[in-house]
Parts: sequence; structure tokens; C-alpha cells
Amino acid sequence: MARELTNDLTWSVSRARLFRTCQRAYFFQYYGAWGGWDVQAPEQTRLLYILKNMTSFPLWGGSTVHDIIKDALVEFRATRQMPDLPTLQAAARNRLNAGWKQSRQKEWLQDPKKCTNLFEHYYAQDGEQVPPEEIAALRTKVFDALESFCNCGILQMLETLPPTQWGSIDTLSSFIAGILPAQDNAPELPLKVWCALDFSYVDQEGFYHIIDWKTGAEHRDELRLQLACYALFAMETMRVPLEKIRLEGVFLNDGGRISTYDINNETLLAAKDQILKSAQAMRAKLQDPVANLADEETFACTSDTSVCARCPYQKVCPNFNQQF
Ligand code: SF4
Repeated sequence: MARELTNDLTWSVSRARLFRTCQRAYFFQYYGAWGGWDVQAPEQTRLLYILKNMTSFPLWGGSTVHDIIKDALVEFRATRQMPDLPTLQAAARNRLNAGWKQSRQKEWLQDPKKCTNLFEHYYAQDGEQVPPEEIAALRTKVFDALESFCNCGILQMLETLPPTQWGSIDTLSSFIAGILPAQDNAPELPLKVWCALDFSYVDQEGFYHIIDWKTGAEHRDELRLQLACYALFAMETMRVPLEKIRLEGVFLNDGGRISTYDINNETLLAAKDQILKSAQAMRAKLQDPVANLADEETFACTSDTSVCARCPYQKVCPNFNQQF
């Protein structure tokens, strides 16, 4: 029998980022859109679900690179044959062309999760077209990232490593990061944290490497928290000792530069504390923390208009639609 889906308070790096960026957008994403996968859902819920699944050129480029790399590594592990760069770039081109068509033809109306819906199309003013130079820049960015992936040295190292020493390849997983203390009338809550390690492996010396592919700029504080979260996951679920963990961001649009992040007991405890405090702040906003129910009005709109300019929720946000 299928397990019934329930909307629970959980934590992830992206959820915490949205909570910090705009609480109203956070409400739309994690509460308003809940249940909108059902075509019979109320109109506003379905609309919010469509907007939740919208992407934009920068995000789309990044997710395309991640998807192609994931498929390539899965194939490499299974066959010991790594697809070459032209093959990866051709796969990326096909994926981008398919997504572009889905977006232009509004195929997302039928399947908002699986079909690409581009911000640049959805919010285009009458007759407005995406400039050809933006399309070319996106393709170049994706192609360059894949070239860096092929040349960054990790693939060459993997050729010498048996598949048994490979770890996860971009698989969504969860673990319990700690206990949220009782709050108002809500009891203690074991905090489930979601994470998806882009790639991990154990090297010849027994070090467990956790790798995050990046197609944007390096934000060290944010990446430190993200990688610390993955380290907690590895320690909690696979019993990897802390001293054996190595954390690395690979910047694919910066030539495949590898940026390492040190971790020790102190930084790990600080990350855990940050996660629990962030989740407590989320729970404090709830109308009913036991049932995880939220009231839109208690989630403030950001005053940073630069955030609103790229926000998928423009269509429903009272802040964005205010004229005077
Ligand atoms: S339009 Fe601005 S205020 Fe409204 S949800 Fe988006 S980011 Fe928040």
C-alpha cells in the first residue's frame, strides 16, 4: 500500500536559503504549493505548484550540467567506459532543446514537475523573445562546465578506482541531525535533514571524499554549511569517522578549480547548531507547529527588489503586484 504523503517540517540547505531570502516565497514553496501535484487541487494550490517547479536560465544551466554528469558517472560505473566530451555536450544540447520546447509549448501544464517551465518564457512581456546572445551564453556555460568536468582530474583518478569504492551519485537522502526542543505546545521533534551528495568515493588511502559540483561563484560560508551537512550525513548513516572525511567543491565554470573545506569537531558542532537554530526559526513562524500548518500573512515579503526580479512567485505575490 502506498505511504500517505504528509507535509512535515524538515530542513535542507535550499529550504534554509529561501527562508532567509524571502519568507513569503518560502511559504509559497513549502506550504502553499503542497498538494498541487494533483490536477484536482484547488486552482491557487495548482498554480503555486506550477510556479514552484519553474526554473530560470541560470538554474536550468546548472541542473542540466548536474543531470549530464550524473548520467555519465552512472554509465561509467556500470560499463567502465566514460562517455567523451562531445558525447556529453551532445546530450546536454538535446536536453536543452527538449526543455526549451516543453517550455515554449507549455507542456508543464500537464506535468509541472517533469516538464521545463522557464521564467524567461512565463514572464515574458507581449512578444518578448529571449535574446539569441543569452541562449548562446547559456550553451557555452553548459559546454564549458562539462569540459572542466572531463579535465578536472577526478575522472582520471576514478579510472584507477574499483566501483566498490564509489559512493553516492546525486541521490536524495535524509538523516536525523538532532532534536528540536519542545516549543510552545509542540513536543520535541527529531529533525529530518534532506541532502543529495553530488558524488562521493573512498580513495586509495581510505579517505572519504564528498564532492559538490558548482556552476556558480563560490560562496564559502554557504558551501561550508552545505558540505558540513553532508559530512554529518556520512557520519550518521555510514559511520565514516570525521578524520577520514574530505570536503571539496569543484567549480566547473572556473576551469574545474577544486576548493577544499577543512572540517573538525568544532566546525561540525557549529554547523549542527546552525541547522537546529534555523529549523527552530522556521517552526516559530508556524500557526500550528504540531500539525505543521502555516498562515501566509505571518511570512513577510522581502524588501529587496533584486530578489523579486527573479522570483517565480511574482504572479501571486501581493508585494510584487502592488502598484502604489
Ligand atoms: S515577489 Fe518578492 S516578496 Fe514576493 S515572494 Fe517573490 S521574492 Fe518574496
